[in-house]
Amino acid sequence: MVEIIPFISSSFSSNAYLLKAKKITLIDVGMEPENLLKKLKKEIALEELALIILTHSHPDHTLALPPILKATKARVALHEQELKSGIKSMMGFPVPEIKPDILLKGGEKLDLGNFSLEVIHTPGHTPGSICLYQDGILFSGDTVFAGGNIGRTDLGGNSKDLLSSVKKLTRLPVEIVYPGHGESIQKNAKEEILSCLQSAEDTLISV
Ligand SMILES: [Zn+2]
Repeated sequence: MVEIIPFISSSFSSNAYLLKAKKITLIDVGMEPENLLKKLKKEIALEELALIILTHSHPDHTLALPPILKATKARVALHEQELKSGIKSMMGFPVPEIKPDILLKGGEKLDLGNFSLEVIHTPGHTPGSICLYQDGILFSGDTVFAGGNIGRTDLGGNSKDLLSSVKKLTRLPVEIVYPGHGESIQKNAKEEILSCLQSAEDTLISV
């Protein structure tokens, strides 16, 4: 098992997760580059960062990308549908220009040396939203959160897609969830994802 360092954000910015695998990987970067670089430097040498996986392109997850790339040699992975999403800004924040080195489709396994992550395409919050899964651990981006909450669909998303994506997640043997915002789910994750499904079903009925 690799060490996972959660950088939990207390602001509008997303969480970021550092995976100390052989290929050191960061999931999402948030929107506070100085803050993130400071935290990263406490854990690794910046040039060791090999890969940044973006769960989707919303600026609260990606605005820090250009300065982080300047400070590291990391490659960037993003789902191909996210390039076509057409969203240029959100809540007054611009979506930075993202040039992924690795275009994801969903279904692939990313080899991090001594650990791998399965890419699960979970459209709904955005067309190219992904979750990452391995060994009972789910990085859920803005698809599901603690407390049975689900991602909003009014920022380029689709509630019908979100419903089928959450359904897809209920079929996984998930024990721990690291979401894009808020605290992680450390127990009864499967039950919490089922209550996320209930929220998704209620949302779809109400529109
Ligand atoms: Zn988002």
